[in-house]
Amino acid sequence: MDPRRHVPRTDAVLADPRLVAAGGRLGRSVVKDAVARAQQRARLGEIGPEQVADAAVAALPSQTASLRAVINATGVLIHTNLGRAPLSPAAVESMAAAAGAADVEFDLQTGARARRGRGALDALTRAVPAAEDVHVVNNNAAALVLAATVLAAGREIVISRGELVEIGDGFRIPDLLVSTGARLREVGTTNRTSYRDYAAAVGPETGCVLKVHPSNFLIEGFTGSAEVSELTALGVPVVADIGSGLLTREPLLPAEPDATTVLEAGADLVTASGDKLLGGPQAGLLLGRRDLVERCRRHPLARALRVDKLTLAALEATLRGPAVPVRQALYADPAALGDRAAALAGALAGAGVDARAVPSEAAVGGGGAPGVRLPSAAVSLPERLAVALRTGEPPVVGRIEGGRLLLDLRTVPGDRDGDVARAILEASG
Ligand SMILES: *Cc1c(COP(=O)(O)O)cnc(C)c1O
Repeated sequence: MDPRRHVPRTDAVLADPRLVAAGGRLGRSVVKDAVARAQQRARLGEIGPEQVADAAVAALPSQTASLRAVINATGVLIHTNLGRAPLSPAAVESMAAAAGAADVEFDLQTGARARRGRGALDALTRAVPAAEDVHVVNNNAAALVLAATVLAAGREIVISRGELVEIGDGFRIPDLLVSTGARLREVGTTNRTSYRDYAAAVGPETGCVLKVHPSNFLIEGFTGSAEVSELTALGVPVVADIGSGLLTREPLLPAEPDATTVLEAGADLVTASGDKLLGGPQAGLLLGRRDLVERCRRHPLARALRVDKLTLAALEATLRGPAVPVRQALYADPAALGDRAAALAGALAGAGVDARAVPSEAAVGGGGAPGVRLPSAAVSLPERLAVALRTGEPPVVGRIEGGRLLLDLRTVPGDRDGDVARAILEASG
């Protein structure tokens, strides 16, 4: 008998109770795709007609969306390709709570409309008392666009040539600024810009002075730049893009600017990212003078750049909640990381895997603190395991160094070592 003639009909396979249940969980089209693939295998004779339902069940994805949770063992704390900052459990819980109908713009007491995202804005104001007012947009690029539009559209932004930064994937801050209709008035040189350079350029056409933290590279040697505290004497609004989103000074990262210090130095407006060192969701923070923040909030563009309720929920939980994963990774004790690497490598070697515990160096990443190396520990494995680990479940992403695959534990949450061990055994098998 030719099995191709007896491929069961789609509706018959879809009636399988396991596939009916999966339809409720994953959606009908995902289940239909799995059935179609199983029918095709039967047509090709790879499986028998009676195996179609089983094959469809086996081929079902575990979730509807294709975006998958991975274990970041790269040692890069804020890995842009892996979604930047991992959210805290408190932030995840808050997002889940906000996912359905939620009081994002509604006062449950009075039954009237309320200020959108007031909880998150209040948390941010409390976290940075030096800011008179705050506003939250889609990301730091959006915060810059809004600030540049409000302060300098049709006018000039005075900016140092040493701060015309490409932030990644071909996106450049100068292009972003010019897209608002502002003109750039470049001052100084790549390595040195002084207060006098700014002072000579400021005039009636000036909309603002912009200081951009060159967060993803270092210029060493004969360098110089003007401080925000000096620039306040220019008599025009001073905007500072600090990048990383540190709200207060971080002793482990002394070269990273923070919002409080920059505002206290006299900046009128500070912009920052939510998903870098702050450790929260993708967001852009605007902090500073009440009148300027209000103008940003009232500008028509603000509506196009506004954040959704999930972001507001996650941001508030990040600001009010327990230490976020980025901070835990930053403060992880190198000796404890070494113990974890030794335990993992020991267990794997016992199972016949070529695994060794080695010292490693982790980095902040996400275009932040480029000169900082964080002592860490890794499990060193044969390089050929890299693909199997990346494509396993859960996917584990490490880095290749000296012909070995290193799984750096500083970026692996402490409770995931068992998952990493299982993934390695599976990949080696
Ligand atoms: C990362 C970064 C940006 C871009 O921030 P997004 O939140 O990704 O839009 C802008 N400026 C600086 C200095 C940065 O470090």
